[in-house]
Amino acid sequence: MSEVITKTPFLSLVVPFYNEEEVIDIFFPTVVAELSKLQLSGFEIVCVNDGSRDDTLPKLVFAASKDHRIRVVDLSRNFGKEAALSAGLKEARGDVLIPFDADLQDPPSVIAEMLRHFAEGYDVVLARRVDRSSDSFLKRKTASMFYWVHNRLSDVKIPENVGDFRLISREVADAIAALPENRRFMKGLFAWVGYRTITIDYTREPRAAGQTKFSGWKLWNFALEGLTSFSTVPLRIWTYLGGLLALFAILWAVMLLVRTLIFGIDVPGYASIAVAVFMLGGVQLIGIGVLGEYIGRIYMESKDRPVYIVRKRYENAPPSLS
Ligand code: UDP
Ligand code: MG
Repeated sequence: MSEVITKTPFLSLVVPFYNEEEVIDIFFPTVVAELSKLQLSGFEIVCVNDGSRDDTLPKLVFAASKDHRIRVVDLSRNFGKEAALSAGLKEARGDVLIPFDADLQDPPSVIAEMLRHFAEGYDVVLARRVDRSSDSFLKRKTASMFYWVHNRLSDVKIPENVGDFRLISREVADAIAALPENRRFMKGLFAWVGYRTITIDYTREPRAAGQTKFSGWKLWNFALEGLTSFSTVPLRIWTYLGGLLALFAILWAVMLLVRTLIFGIDVPGYASIAVAVFMLGGVQLIGIGVLGEYIGRIYMESKDRPVYIVRKRYENAPPSLS
């Protein structure tokens, strides 16, 4: 790392909020106290309200009215965490940006260490969860299965146990904002852009308040999004599977032919035929389903709709300017 950054950076904490009214009262005091301790030229907390249906927005707007470092970007509806994060990263003005969960599962105390590595010249500081005991057993198992499958199928490797919590430099944020795709699997996009990266370890805390927003079904679709965004292997395996089955059928046909010539015709039960028909039908439908997953995504992407719509921005000018 030759070029060492001497300027103290301005930090943007980018936080998506979806029905997080219970956590807001704890969130701002905790985070502002932690950020105030750091060596920074200043900081802002970019809060993206992702179409919350509870009192999240009024609470955020109130916090912003009390502290000019808190900015609120209100989206027109719930666009999902990935879109909310994209919105926040685009709105943020800092030299360094940190996506951060509203529920304080990512300890803000790690940020000091991230900044040290940024000062050493790294553009990306990944925070890896070494202890995920605060997540359920099922979530940990399915998450590790996802990473395993994804990283085998895709050229872009997603580091295991690394969430969205990370430090990225302005350069990296601009590179991500310039990516044209509408369907944004952020973990993959972060990995795709590359840059000088270092990984640090931390312990994932339990949620400070409220409930997780990700059900099993949502996570499954999230996993599909990740796989289809970064790999075409699921499309291509059907060629090989089809080839194998055809080869098997030819061998079987030869075997039957020879057997008939030697032993004459014998008519066994049709159960085996039924099994073969169902099996092939099933395999073909799965293949068509996979095609459908991709075509659906091409269709949505081709509409070229925006990733999100900002309804309103709330921010106060710093007192020194007024
Ligand atoms: N979130 C969001 N939009 C959504 C779902 C979640 O902005 O549609 C936010 C949520 O408010 C939180 C972050 O994404 O700040 C992570 O969500 P959560 O803690 O529920 O996920 P988990 O930690 O359980 O994976
Ligand atoms: Mg959480």
